Amino acid sequence: MVIVVDGFDPAYLEHGLANGTLPTMQSFKERGFLGIADCCLPGTTNTNNTSIVTGVPPVVHGINGNYYLDSETGKEIMITDASRLRCGTILGALSRAGVQTAVVTAKDKLLKVLAYQMSGINFSSEYAHKASLEENQIENVEKLVGRQQPDQYSADLSLFVLDAGVEILSSFRPDIMYLSTSDYVPHKHAPGEPEADAFYHQTDAIFGKLVALGATVAITADHGMNDKSASDGTPNVVYLEDELNSRFGAGSVRIICPIADPFVRHHGALGSFVRVHLRKPGDIPAMMAFTRTLSGIELVLDKQQVCKQFELPLDREGDFAVLSDRHTVVGARRGDHNLSQLAGHRLRSHGGLGEQKVPFLLSRPLNAEYRKRAKDGPLHNYDIFDFALNGVE
Ligand SMILES: [Zn+2]
Repeated sequence: MVIVVDGFDPAYLEHGLANGTLPTMQSFKERGFLGIADCCLPGTTNTNNTSIVTGVPPVVHGINGNYYLDSETGKEIMITDASRLRCGTILGALSRAGVQTAVVTAKDKLLKVLAYQMSGINFSSEYAHKASLEENQIENVEKLVGRQQPDQYSADLSLFVLDAGVEILSSFRPDIMYLSTSDYVPHKHAPGEPEADAFYHQTDAIFGKLVALGATVAITADHGMNDKSASDGTPNVVYLEDELNSRFGAGSVRIICPIADPFVRHHGALGSFVRVHLRKPGDIPAMMAFTRTLSGIELVLDKQQVCKQFELPLDREGDFAVLSDRHTVVGARRGDHNLSQLAGHRLRSHGGLGEQKVPFLLSRPLNAEYRKRAKDGPLHNYDIFDFALNGVE
């Protein structure tokens, strides 16, 4: 059972272990394995879920964000299917080898990649009511889970995924299962807030049920999460497209935010990693040097450098990449980002180096070879299938 807990920053785990609200994960720490891994950058949901189901970084699988600029047409495109995927998945290969596989995800937009060329139960809690034998190889999901399909903007969207995992495991006994939640709660609530404590306590209880049913449970996250607001609650934002165009001339650049998502209510499409695309020939080193002077910017890398450092596909990169620090987000134009939907919450987001660390947990102890691998590092979240399948005693 491989579970990707969306936005599960190590701070939630540390907090919950310290205050005793995560007894199942505490038992993993004592009798299984608890480590910290790196996620792939940009630290977005679909980049990392794709890395985890393929076991490789974006330079191989091709998915380098939720949103991109098509260099041939100049159009900006949201990724909602597997058309940019450049390799097969572990789940697809297992299923073709006759292993019974199942996938449940919170967000429907991920389903086409997660269940790519896989036969077996697959559905999203977002569209649980629509699941059919023909499309999803399962029906009556609401009845199976024992409640109605949750609201898209709710903690239950994730809990429904995990509860469905328990019911599917008891009723259908698949060999391998992949569960992926939503980051609704971590975008809204910091470690220590009662809503966050309650949510992770509930997820931990469900992990306990999976262990009791005999599963090997492996847990990681797609990215961490940080507070990106000033002490007065206003978000710390660098509107980089405005900054660069006012300095280097109107229409010089377009900024693409790979975090942009139809599911944007809680971050306004603002994260800590953007791609700068030149609209006309310009002085890239001068633009990069200027960007480095802006407050809250942590790292500016040209196309070659960013692809080398973060294992990204060169043909899908912008002219340069900009990463903001753990307290700051970086966006395009002020008008591109609607922050009114934060509705009084502090902005919490992800995507950069400050959110690269994620938990890496297994319910069973590692064998000697994988203990050594974990110790020597680097450990990536996309190693989780390998560890779950080959690395436990
Ligand atoms: Zn996510």
